[in-house]
Amino acid sequence: MELILISILVLGVGAYLGAVADRFSYWFHVSRGMMWRKHCIKCFSFDAWMTYMPVFGYVLRRGTCSSCNEKLPIAPVLAEVVGVLSIGFIWFFGWGAVLPTNAMEVLNAALALFAMTGMLVLAISDLVYDEVPFAIYLLTLAALIGRIMIFSEASVFAFSMFAGIVSGFVMSILMIVSKWRWVHAHDILLGILIGIIVGWPGFFITLAFAYIFAIFGGIVDWGWGKRMWKGASSYGLYLFFALAAHAVLQVISALA
Ligand SMILES: [Zn+2]
Repeated sequence: MELILISILVLGVGAYLGAVADRFSYWFHVSRGMMWRKHCIKCFSFDAWMTYMPVFGYVLRRGTCSSCNEKLPIAPVLAEVVGVLSIGFIWFFGWGAVLPTNAMEVLNAALALFAMTGMLVLAISDLVYDEVPFAIYLLTLAALIGRIMIFSEASVFAFSMFAGIVSGFVMSILMIVSKWRWVHAHDILLGILIGIIVGWPGFFITLAFAYIFAIFGGIVDWGWGKRMWKGASSYGLYLFFALAAHAVLQVISALA
């Protein structure tokens, strides 16, 4: 019973962090006037269900506006679901499925949640707006490095930094080879971040996934005869999918 209540609490926090990341990205890239509220894109009526109940608000409204029946965008709900999945992953693998009990564990959890929310903002910014807010990048990087520095052994820290550097180097080569068309400068930044998160030698698996997805994406693009994803996509899309696939792989091997 207690485990169920803690799970609901943890996953609820994840959903709200996902919602915060989505709202912040929207506020940052599109409109500084509509920060935390979810307005219908057609009639601009404010939907309290959607704002205060992440995921369920969308389900209860059946994905439509309550006053004009306009279909609501799915992106905010996706961000909330990804928030739930990410925090579930961090909670299970990072904290051993318990709540933090002392000050150091609270600091560990806080840094992990901050970095997770930052990663969500960066993912949404890259995938939807093809732009990376640099201040958020630096804060996320600082939280990640700080967490590994405080809570991991020196060798783990050294290997994580090394993985970040190698990952950034690989992205730089891809950028030059693709003549800046496929891999953009901000993908180097994302590559460094993901290298640090996954660490050494795990980032080889993530990079391999990214290549496989990129090849698959290239084939789909070629088959469709046009760029999917509004033509805005660059390599960051495949990096984030690769990170997710790597996490799924870890979950499967933990279950087996
Ligand atoms: Zn409406």
